[in-house]
Amino acid sequence: MDLLKEKILTMGQVLSEEVLKVDSFLNHQIDISLYEAMGEEFKRIFSDTQVDRILTIEASGIGIACMAAHYFRVPVVYAKKTTSKIMQDEAYEAEVFSFTKNCSYTVRVLKPYIKPGENVLVIDDFLANGQAVLGLKQIIEEAGATLAGVGIVIEKGFQDGGKKLREMGIRVESLAVIGSMSRNGINFL
Ligand code: 5GP
Repeated sequence: MDLLKEKILTMGQVLSEEVLKVDSFLNHQIDISLYEAMGEEFKRIFSDTQVDRILTIEASGIGIACMAAHYFRVPVVYAKKTTSKIMQDEAYEAEVFSFTKNCSYTVRVLKPYIKPGENVLVIDDFLANGQAVLGLKQIIEEAGATLAGVGIVIEKGFQDGGKKLREMGIRVESLAVIGSMSRNGINFL
């Protein structure tokens, strides 16, 4: 997606050869025109797929998933990273290893918010080693639903998540795939 690639090139900050910071338009300050265009693009890409619900993970995935859900006209639900006294319903849970925080955490989705038989599209901001997507896949399957596909904003093609998920037969569609990056520049695949 050209608009996204242009934003990455002009506003992205390469923190290391593995970590890209995109706080100025994606992860902290939000460029709503870009979000809108990305939501529409996910709808176009997955227009041949039955999608009953969109699932993401807090926090960065929520805005993007909401924009996509607006075009699909389906509910969006996000996996929570913390629990609280008001989470009284039973939850589906999965352990996820965080690439950026270098630790594991539990994500939860309350049982009423994924129904058996639904086709669920997963949306997230980055794909690195695929741990977040695998955690969400586990929750979807535990609910008796089906993973319809995975929509990613930025896939880092030099990490193994995309390969691993595609080898499992999962349809992964990314709006921008980075082949390599360094402080000298970013190359897209
Ligand atoms: P994975 O689970 O695929 O290993 O990592 C994906 C998750 O880690 C995403 O939900 C995203 O929040 C975070 N992440 C992975 N790589 C990056 C990165 O280069 N930059 C930022 N900002 N987040 C990342």
